[in-house]
Amino acid sequence: MSIFPRISMKPEVTEYLRSVFLNKEAVAAVGHQEAELHFQRLLLCLSHPPSHTCVRASTHLAPLEEIRHELREELKKQQARSSSAEEIQIVPHPRVEDVLLLPVDGPRPVTQLSSEVVVGAQCGSAVLRGAHVFHPGITASPKYMKIGDAVSVFSDLEGRCTRGAFSFQGNKVFVGNGVAEMDRSRIFATDEPPRGVGVRMVEPLYQSPSFDGVLPSLVFLQNLPSVVAGHVLGPRPGERILDMCAAPGGKTCHIAALMEDQGEVVALDRIRNKIERIRQNAQMLHLKSVKAYCFNSVQAVSDDPSQETEGPPFPPESFDRVLLDAPCSGLGRRPNMSCTWSLKEICSYPPLQRKLFHAAVQLLKKGGVLVYSTCTVTLAENEEQVAWALKTFPDLTLQPQEPHIGAEGMLGAGLSAEQLRLLQRFRPELSWEQTDATAPVACRADGDTIGFFIAKFLKN
Ligand code: SAM
Repeated sequence: MSIFPRISMKPEVTEYLRSVFLNKEAVAAVGHQEAELHFQRLLLCLSHPPSHTCVRASTHLAPLEEIRHELREELKKQQARSSSAEEIQIVPHPRVEDVLLLPVDGPRPVTQLSSEVVVGAQCGSAVLRGAHVFHPGITASPKYMKIGDAVSVFSDLEGRCTRGAFSFQGNKVFVGNGVAEMDRSRIFATDEPPRGVGVRMVEPLYQSPSFDGVLPSLVFLQNLPSVVAGHVLGPRPGERILDMCAAPGGKTCHIAALMEDQGEVVALDRIRNKIERIRQNAQMLHLKSVKAYCFNSVQAVSDDPSQETEGPPFPPESFDRVLLDAPCSGLGRRPNMSCTWSLKEICSYPPLQRKLFHAAVQLLKKGGVLVYSTCTVTLAENEEQVAWALKTFPDLTLQPQEPHIGAEGMLGAGLSAEQLRLLQRFRPELSWEQTDATAPVACRADGDTIGFFIAKFLKN
């Protein structure tokens, strides 16, 4: 079935997730065997990349067809450099007007070499999505590795490899072959740390283009469900919109682009050094309507509503729309070969999400739209939060989503069938083994995504 292992997790986390997927309501609806199969498929597909690379095109700057053409030309140049002759497919998504999809080829049969470079799990995941190995990701390399040496790259699943090691015998997974672009001595130099690519991937296990430096103002790498979340929010030119947990700003910039850069998108994030990323992204995409602030969004509602300032905190009912793309356990991210978190860490998110939700509802104008989203698969952070919100805030109602290309909400939180139909849950485990190579590209891309959840509310 697969040359890759399932995602590795602490047994307590695996058991918890199993209890989510085999909850009473789900088992009663689909049967024990089917629910178990969904869970097992989830564990397997999480460690693999989605079947397509998704890029959001800056349609506020140029028409989609023009961007598609320019992207094809850029990627052809990249291919010429790597002497690859395969034709690059770039397909517009039929329902999401600013999305281009590029099929990912893999896992491909690649023969392992005797020289090994070990990289951190995050770097390994990036390689599986088409990146080269940037030098900070490297933790071990052969003792005499020189520029031009052919090496096999392994991802250290548990973060156990000591930086500067010559080899590593721990839990690791092969992600492809590459050529060293730096000597070992330079990679681990302490006096003047190097910058840039340490190993250029030439035979990755999963082949997809590298987007590093490719048309930076015109294409933005973003998972399909994240782009869908921006559309579901439905921003319009001239509105004032709050993105409460915004860094690095992928959705913030999408919102500003959908507003044709007219109006104001306030982007908040609690981590100071992430704010610069939001600003850089906005600048790169030529978006002036984004205002980014370092702020704890739990405290974003002003105690003194009469005192209006440009930045946070804000008086109640200040925004036409609010996006709460909440901090979450991230168990839907792909590829993710290893989750080292404890159950306590996984379960620490719902209380914070509820505090943020309280602030979101207060900051939203009457008649305004609130979108709540996460990139995780638990009920506690998704459907159970919706059930809680509907009980806690009687003025909120669930709204239909456009586009709705994911599945409906998952059973298990006591929501009605009608409420579940209004929710959008991207469930890669439902499509994975059924992936039909002859199905249209967009169909396959719609199912085989990261795990993601979207709920849309109207404040009455
Ligand atoms: N929306 C982002 C995007 O699409 O690029 C991704 C957001 S990520 C899921 C969640 C973010 O919430 C993190 O950047 C984290 O720093 C931020 N965060 C966590 N707690 C927060 C808080 N109390 N106030 C504001 N931001 C917070």
